[in-house]
Amino acid sequence: MRSAPRANPYRDSWSGDLGAEHAGSAARVSGWVHNRRDHGGLIFVDLRDRSGIVQLVFHPENGAELFAAAERLRAEYVVSVAGDVLRRESGQVNPNLATGEIEIQVGEMTLLAESQTPPFPLDSDVELDEMLRLRHRTLDLRRRPMVDALVLRHEVVRTIRETLSDQDFLEVETPILTKSTPEGARDFLVPSRLQPGSFYALPQSPQLFKQLLMVAGYERYFQIARCFRDEDLRADRQPEFTQLDLEMSFVEEDDIIDVNERLMANVFQLGGIDIQAPPYERMGYAEAMLRFGTDRPDRRFGLEIADVSEHLRGSEFKVFSSVLNQAHPPGVVRAINAGAREVPRKELDELTEVAKRAGAGGLVWAFVQEDGTWRSPIAKFLSVEEIAAVTGALDAKPGDLLLAVADTVAVAANALGTLRLELAARWDLVAAGRHDVLWIVDFPMFGYNEDEDRWDALHHPFSAPTAPTGNTAADLAAADGPGSWLSRNYDLVCDGWELGGGSIRIHDPAVQLMVFEAIGLDEAEADTRFGFLLEALRFGAPPHGGIAFGIDRIVALLLGRESIRDVIAFPKTASGSDPLTGAPAQVDARQLRELGLRSAVTPAAPAR
Ligand code: ASP
Repeated sequence: MRSAPRANPYRDSWSGDLGAEHAGSAARVSGWVHNRRDHGGLIFVDLRDRSGIVQLVFHPENGAELFAAAERLRAEYVVSVAGDVLRRESGQVNPNLATGEIEIQVGEMTLLAESQTPPFPLDSDVELDEMLRLRHRTLDLRRRPMVDALVLRHEVVRTIRETLSDQDFLEVETPILTKSTPEGARDFLVPSRLQPGSFYALPQSPQLFKQLLMVAGYERYFQIARCFRDEDLRADRQPEFTQLDLEMSFVEEDDIIDVNERLMANVFQLGGIDIQAPPYERMGYAEAMLRFGTDRPDRRFGLEIADVSEHLRGSEFKVFSSVLNQAHPPGVVRAINAGAREVPRKELDELTEVAKRAGAGGLVWAFVQEDGTWRSPIAKFLSVEEIAAVTGALDAKPGDLLLAVADTVAVAANALGTLRLELAARWDLVAAGRHDVLWIVDFPMFGYNEDEDRWDALHHPFSAPTAPTGNTAADLAAADGPGSWLSRNYDLVCDGWELGGGSIRIHDPAVQLMVFEAIGLDEAEADTRFGFLLEALRFGAPPHGGIAFGIDRIVALLLGRESIRDVIAFPKTASGSDPLTGAPAQVDARQLRELGLRSAVTPAAPAR
């Protein structure tokens, strides 16, 4: 419960906190005119402040001047009023309003500010154009959904701070003007005026600083950290976003997972959402990729993927046999049982397009018929045994639609993983309000970068690799090449989103150098870029590990909002611009000169 404001000439009460218990007393409130209704010779005004809304009533008999002033009130005017809190007559009670049992009969009013007519109504739930909302964000932020979002966001951060502080975590700030930290995205650069030609990078995460804090002996660190990644913005990404960043020393995976599960359980509770209690299930990366085609599985609906290659290995159907016989990269046939559905030809063509856009050469479809045979363009190419075996492997019944992709492992996984999500959206398969959380573990350390002929760290190159025999440099050297190393990573996945991810880190400089070498950095280059880390590791580095969670995504999830822009006070558009301030914007020639810079392009007109 809010404490009452200190009484001053503007107010002695919050609008949203007045209730039946205040009836009979006087109150003074301040706020914005949410709306005004004139009827029956009376004027009603809904007055809004951050706490909520209270109804004001103006009677002509309380003074002609006051009444005339009330008649001049328009939406978003700012006023301070004083009057008597009265119980509403029973027929007038508004059960939808926290203050709906009372109203203030105004005896006195001060007009504090007028307002132009807002470009959109602030007192209704109508769907508004997002560009318009972002352009007029100050007004948009007055709307209830935005207030609710920012209040919950605050509660999430507060819970994080309290839960972690209670467990001896220290909040430490790390620099914004820094050197590149690779998280796999492009850096935002800031030119240095004092050292012309040199640049700071904005941090993609505090990764290296938090590791240095562990080497420095701080043991348990966290930060509500702003991170910057210059990525091509996919639908729901922001160039700057907020992470809960956390690191611990002398720990293993279970220690970090345990702290974070308890923390997340507290956070999930704030949204009152229907989600499992910890401990959360852990699933290996390989299993997730096989069954869901992604390392961020959405398990709230079925449609799991099955590998049916073994049943088709001898097939005479060319498409299958050529894929299954290819050695490098190996091919597979994988399939989904989409269930009993009448899916018209046109929709099958659309689904084929979805699979193709996800990289597949095509999509095989088949309906299981009463006699166990298939209605499918490929039925005639398959033997009765093959059809029966695949039908059995997919646990399919007459009427079921089967969808299959024959391709490389990666393409088949991606195409069917994409198709699963498409089917769930088309057929509305996710029960409202249902949530699912799990850890993904046992990631490969690297993925092969064909273009540059080297390994890329799947998470980042500071995660500790493991080999079948152990984690030491000798174990890793004895293994079957870096492609066989796993990494000691864990991602927390919720409803198909990666909410957070982290790892046990490398604390042995020799292992760190092996990983740098695998990603194509020789010792000299590694030293130029990460010498400060290598040096720290040589001065007694404890075993350590950590994690980071996306706060924007967590708040959006708790509120059931589609877009993280709806839980950020001042977000950017998908093209990285801010319609409110006009950023990014051109700068003076003089500023460029001072920085020793010259622009090689004519700036595009600002996106507004
Ligand atoms: N720095 C990592 C990230 O931002 C998280 C971590 O490994 O702690 O994704």
